[in-house]
Amino acid sequence: MNRVLLIKYGELSTKKGNRNFFINTLYHTVCDKLEKYDVEITKDRARMCIYFHDQDLEDIRKAVGKIFGIHTYHIAIVCDSTEESIKDTLLKAISEEKFSTFKMDVRRCDKRFPIHSQDFNRVLGGVLLKNIPNIKVDVHNPDLWINVEIREEHTYIYYHTYEGCGGYPVGTQPKGMLMLSGGIDSPVAGYMAMKRGVEIEAVYFEAVPHTSLEAREKVITLCRKLSEYTNKIHLHVVNFTPIQESIYQYCRDDYCITIMRRMMYRLMDMIAKKYKGLVIINGESIGQVASQTLTSMSVINEVTNMPVIRPVACLDKLEIIDLARKIDTYETSILPYEDCCTVFVPKHPVINPSLETCIEEESKFDYLPMLEEAVNSLNTIVVTPEDSEYHDYL
Ligand code: ATP
Ligand code: MG
Repeated sequence: MNRVLLIKYGELSTKKGNRNFFINTLYHTVCDKLEKYDVEITKDRARMCIYFHDQDLEDIRKAVGKIFGIHTYHIAIVCDSTEESIKDTLLKAISEEKFSTFKMDVRRCDKRFPIHSQDFNRVLGGVLLKNIPNIKVDVHNPDLWINVEIREEHTYIYYHTYEGCGGYPVGTQPKGMLMLSGGIDSPVAGYMAMKRGVEIEAVYFEAVPHTSLEAREKVITLCRKLSEYTNKIHLHVVNFTPIQESIYQYCRDDYCITIMRRMMYRLMDMIAKKYKGLVIINGESIGQVASQTLTSMSVINEVTNMPVIRPVACLDKLEIIDLARKIDTYETSILPYEDCCTVFVPKHPVINPSLETCIEEESKFDYLPMLEEAVNSLNTIVVTPEDSEYHDYL
C-alpha cells in the first residue's frame, strides 16, 4: 500500500497573507530534518505529505513530532480519487486493523467528486459492515475513527493520529538570543520561544575555574536537546570570570547578584547586536529569587533597550518542571554542577535594589573594557542533535 505521513499545519493556517511564507519555512525545516532519509515531500496550502520507505517510518515519525508548526500528523494511505479505488483501498487497509466499532468521516475537499460527503459516508460504512464481521458503527466513541479526505490529486485514508508540537515553524520570526544556564528554567524558555517561531542563538556565561567543565558540558547537552526542535543552535560561551571576580572584589555584598545580572544583560545587548539578534530571551520567573522581583527586574533591565522576552515569567516552578520533563531537559538540568549565579551567592541579596546604588557600586571598577574583552573572546559552538561538532571543545 502507498503510505504517506500527512501533515496538518498548526496555527499557521490562520495566517492569511503570510501563509506561503509559513508553509515554505515549514517545508524547508522538514526537508532539513529528514535530509538523511530517502523521502519525497510535497506541499500545498492545506497539507504536506512525506512519502517514505517503511523501514524509516519510526525515525521519521519521531523527527516530525519535534517540528513546530505541525498541529497533527497521520499515517495515511493514498489512492486515486475515484469511488472504486477508495472502496477497494479502504477495505484492504481496514482488514489489517483490529477493532469492533468505527466511525466514517468523509471530507469531499474536491467538490467535483460526484458523491456528497454524507452519502459517501454511508456508502463506505456499508462496504465495511458488509465485508468485515462483528463490527458496528459508534459515532461517539469509536475504536477507529476513519478519515477519508478526497482531494483533487489523491484521496487520503487515515485513522492513526499523532499530536504535533504546534506553534509556528522556527525561522518565521527573526533571531532571539537565549540566556542559557544549566538550570531548569532557561531551556524551557528557549523551547517556548522557538515554539513561537523564533530562531534562537544561545549564550552561556561561565566563570572557570569557579565553574566546572561539567557545568559547560551540561549546558551543551541542554542546547543539544533544544536543537532537536530546529536543526542546529549556535552556542556562545562567554568567559565571565574577570567580571564576576571584580564585582565581588569591589561591590557591596548584597548588590553583587543585581550587578552581576546587569553585567550579563549588558553583554547580552552587545552580543545580540554583534550577531543580529533582535531580542533577549531568558528563564526569569517573577518572584522566584531576589533578582527576579519586579523591582530587581526593572533595575536590571535598565541597562538595555532591547526587548527582553521571559516566556516562563508567569509560570509556577512546578509548571516549568512539567514542561522541562516534557522536553526531556529536566534530568540534565538537575545535575548538581555549580553555575556562576550559584557559586558566589551573598547571604542577603537585595530584594528591592535601587538604581542609584547600582550605578554607584558599578563606578568602582572599569567594567566596559572587560565587557568588550568578554564579547571579543567568546567561543561559538555549533550544537546539533547528533552532537558531533564540539567534542574538541570539552
Ligand atoms: P533555576 O532553574 O535553578 O532557576 P535558572 O537558570 O533559571 O535556573 P536563575 O538564577 O533563576 O537560574 O537565572 C535566571 C535566568 O538568567 C536563567 O533562566 C537564564 O536565562 C539566565 N542565566 C542565569 N545564569 C546564566 C548563565 N550562567 N549563563 C547564561 N544565562 C544565565
Ligand atoms: Mg530560575
